[in-house]
Amino acid sequence: MPREQLVGGGLIVALIVLVGVGLWKTSAPHTVAVVRQSKAVMGTSCTLMAIVPSNESVHADQIVHEAETTLRGVEARMSAWLNDSELGRFNAAGASREIPLSPETLAVLRTARQAWTQTGGAFDVTCRPLIELWRDAGRRDMVPTDSALDRARAASSWDDIELTATGAAKRTATASVDLGGIAKGYAIDQAADVLWHACVDGGLVDVGGDLVCFGRPHHGHDWPIDVKNPFGPGILARLRIGGGAVCTSGNYARFTQIGGRRYSHIIDPRTGRPADVALSVTVWALDAVTADVWATALSVLREQGLARLPQSVEALLVVGTKDQHHLICTPGFRLILDEPLPAGLRVWKPPSIAPGPSQD
Ligand code: AMP
Ligand code: MG
Repeated sequence: MPREQLVGGGLIVALIVLVGVGLWKTSAPHTVAVVRQSKAVMGTSCTLMAIVPSNESVHADQIVHEAETTLRGVEARMSAWLNDSELGRFNAAGASREIPLSPETLAVLRTARQAWTQTGGAFDVTCRPLIELWRDAGRRDMVPTDSALDRARAASSWDDIELTATGAAKRTATASVDLGGIAKGYAIDQAADVLWHACVDGGLVDVGGDLVCFGRPHHGHDWPIDVKNPFGPGILARLRIGGGAVCTSGNYARFTQIGGRRYSHIIDPRTGRPADVALSVTVWALDAVTADVWATALSVLREQGLARLPQSVEALLVVGTKDQHHLICTPGFRLILDEPLPAGLRVWKPPSIAPGPSQD
């Protein structure tokens, strides 16, 4: 079974939820880190942490529980793989009928549409017909025919989706959306908001390695964040950040195999084909939606996409294979990399004039 199916299946099958709650002393006097770890959240596992005065640990336990409920709520609404989610219902609907959506789902769809413009079309949640086409191709172990590819490309377009004040409507029955490249970031931001509004001293929400942290860390002044080695066990680099979001899109980690060849789970909307598999992208941004979107978009755009990054968004690209690869990062990302720097790192030099639409 291709891995993609395993990941999708993980969302559908009700798994036994393993929950662990722990209490750790922090380096600051009289504070503790209340930690909750759970499995089967958005197809992966999550860690939630609240740093609080030691006499507030019971309250903090409720808060981290509430943050986890928030993660699960977003998954239930926005997973395209759950038939009874809002998105599942929208995707199954026929044309020309408005499907009511919650303000949250609508806000994520609007942000996704803005991201489509900002990334020059590389981030496109309307490419669900293409995602399904390649998923089926993995199941049948056969690359799609040119005509099937053309049909799926024609069906993947924002032109066919209208967002209204209270919902969304399709212009064609084949239009559908997949928020897999943004909903996790949104869920992490929402869960981190729960911790933030509870006035904890510091907080962390980590879902499968994508995370937000803020405030006082567990120990010391900065949060140590490990970037996994995309080629095997261990870490590639360690970051030290005062806060913000870190998301990784790893073509190595999630792929479909067809005819013995690996195909990425990320689609290049320009060609309708999977993006190059030999790439892992880690993005730091102020919020997880932005980091999530750009990690997916740069998986499509590669180094050429760095010039499109908005202010306060930093990236690290690992390009190549286990035996032959190089790393490239933005100057701002270099500043958050801990010593020793990973071997083969080059710091990207931004062009003096960023690309943009022609004014002529
Ligand atoms: P991520 O792991 O955050 O990069 O998200 C990858 C997921 O986003 C895929 O599994 C698809 O559900 C979805 N996706 C694939 N290609 C794209 C794309 N070009 N733009 C937006 N979402 C995509
Ligand atoms: Mg993403």
